[in-house]
Amino acid sequence: MAGNALVRSYNDNIRPLLDAVDRLRHLKVTDEGIQLPTIVVVGDQSSGKSSVLESLAGISLPRGQGICTRVPLVMRLQGDPDATEPLLHLEYRSKTVETTEAGITEAINEATVEIAGAGKGISDAPITLVVKKKGVPDLTLVDLPGITRVAVHGQPEDIYEQISHTIMGYIAPKESIILNVLSATVDFPTCESIRMSQKVDPLGERTLAVVTKSDKAPEGLLEKVTVDDVRIGLGYVCVRNRVGDETYEQARDEEKRLFNLHPLLSQIDKSMTGIPVLAHRLTQIQASIIAKCLPDIVKKIDEKLHRSMSDLNGMPQKLSNRADALKAILHIFKVLRESLEMSLIKGEYGEFPDEQSLHGAARIYEMISSYSSELPSNCPTTDDPFLMEEVRVLEEAKGIWLPNFLPRSAFCVLLKRKVGTISQKPHEVINAVWDYVENLTIQILLRHLQNYPQIQSLSQRVVHNLITKLSAKSYEFVMNMIEMELCSDYTSNPDYMKRWTEFMEKQGHFMEAIEDHSKPTKVSLEAFGEVEVGHLRAHADVAEQAFDIRMRLTAYWKSVVLRLVDGVALHILHSIKNMVESQLEVELINELVGPEMAGVDRMLEESPATATKRDRLKKSVELLRQSKGIVANVMDRIVVEGGK
Ligand code: GDP
Ligand code: MG
Repeated sequence: MAGNALVRSYNDNIRPLLDAVDRLRHLKVTDEGIQLPTIVVVGDQSSGKSSVLESLAGISLPRGQGICTRVPLVMRLQGDPDATEPLLHLEYRSKTVETTEAGITEAINEATVEIAGAGKGISDAPITLVVKKKGVPDLTLVDLPGITRVAVHGQPEDIYEQISHTIMGYIAPKESIILNVLSATVDFPTCESIRMSQKVDPLGERTLAVVTKSDKAPEGLLEKVTVDDVRIGLGYVCVRNRVGDETYEQARDEEKRLFNLHPLLSQIDKSMTGIPVLAHRLTQIQASIIAKCLPDIVKKIDEKLHRSMSDLNGMPQKLSNRADALKAILHIFKVLRESLEMSLIKGEYGEFPDEQSLHGAARIYEMISSYSSELPSNCPTTDDPFLMEEVRVLEEAKGIWLPNFLPRSAFCVLLKRKVGTISQKPHEVINAVWDYVENLTIQILLRHLQNYPQIQSLSQRVVHNLITKLSAKSYEFVMNMIEMELCSDYTSNPDYMKRWTEFMEKQGHFMEAIEDHSKPTKVSLEAFGEVEVGHLRAHADVAEQAFDIRMRLTAYWKSVVLRLVDGVALHILHSIKNMVESQLEVELINELVGPEMAGVDRMLEESPATATKRDRLKKSVELLRQSKGIVANVMDRIVVEGGK
């Protein structure tokens, strides 16, 4: 296991990992949404957080009234055998300030004022304090503002919400280890810091408790840390911090004596007492959490870098003159046209394989075939008894001429009626198709213009106006088509004669049933099944012609429907092709480039959002590249060590 190998050879191997993580923290990769393994110190106010850090670092930190921590303090402790005295510096807002043990309080206060203002407000921008000292453990910890429930004088009203928000931001990520500082003088379950850590780590799996002020409340401490009624998964370490003006060394001696000699405290297992134990536990935990998290961090950095880079590449160049803007605009028109050709004409959907609504050719085919299936395949009839509609029309068409001529006018009247019943259908499909094409064109257009919001609405209007025009033309076309069907009856389709002749073979049989009253009144006809003809005996004079007309209509109807479907389909395809291949581009150029160059000039005014986005992406790419370099170095190490 990489983790164990790392823990064993701690000194050689952990430092570089820790450095890498610290450098990532310094680069603010957390701003990119990458969480770093972090030990976060939380505790109620005056629980002794700063004192614990002080003990770990062997230095003095700001303390007392008004100078409690108001911003997160990242403490990087580095053991340095060559440092004869502690070397300290602060890093914040991309500056580095050297300081000394005596000056640290003032330096931190100054930095705090610079970050969080002079009042008592808090901020979540951290200060980093680097401490290089002989004998300190290699540890990075974050000290957070203490949890106050009530705003003290001069603090903002919502101080509790502000602090909880900051603390939650640090302890919620699963990469964080929570170091919960509890004062031995209080009842643990009442601690606000326990409530908070339980919210994000209910089983305490990543929570370690430090119990401070053991010297002040030794009674019952053994029981408190053994019973563990607040669920601290990583265990308890009881400590005694510096009291009053003690030096660091004195404080450690006092602590040792306390846990060795105190009648109650000496009963607590030695693996649970003293700052050195705490330091050791923390370095171990830190090593394993870093080893555990790094591979994932590397993966995330790669992913984010990849995404930021492709976003950046997808961004338009900043346009500085009309010529460039014109080039860009013409390029967009060209790719728009290609996309529309693919979708609406060729039916190739590689650009948006999963967006069915943009698969133009397929959707239009569906609309046309559903239109075709809505047109009745047989000539519509009324509910009247068989042939009575024809009979009535024929009776009105009687004139002074020989009775055995089929009056063509009767046929035309009936044909008009039948065509009239379906004359709205072609309009409906045409409207639906144009609505769809407009919608699709605008969606695809907006994709190509996503970086140029300044010309989106103008371009959309162009599409809308063009399609309104084309749709009006289609309306006219369909009107004409219907009018042609209404005004004449013609087809060169040989099927018509063939079907009519077949139908007419039954005419003799049909007439027999009408004229010979002894015959049954039901006749079986291929196209209509079994029909009742008894009622036609009263209209025997026109029955023969009625039969003929019905057969003609029936045979002819197929041709009418075929023309209405084919005509509409061809018209739609033709119109869309024209639109995609030339009209749209012409209109766009007229409106956006045209004599005024309105669109071109707008292209030059880059929206602030685009500029900001480009800057942000550039920074992000730069930062992630650096981060990648940092982790690449240490990952080699993990792989090598892990393989041992
Ligand atoms: P913070 O607000 O959590 O940072 O708490 P501080 O570290 O400022 O400590 C609050 C007070 O408790 C200070 O007066 C410290 O001297 C005191 N204190 C902290 N730890 C101990 C300890 O182990 N023993 C004693 N006796 N006092 C302590
Ligand atoms: Mg403090």
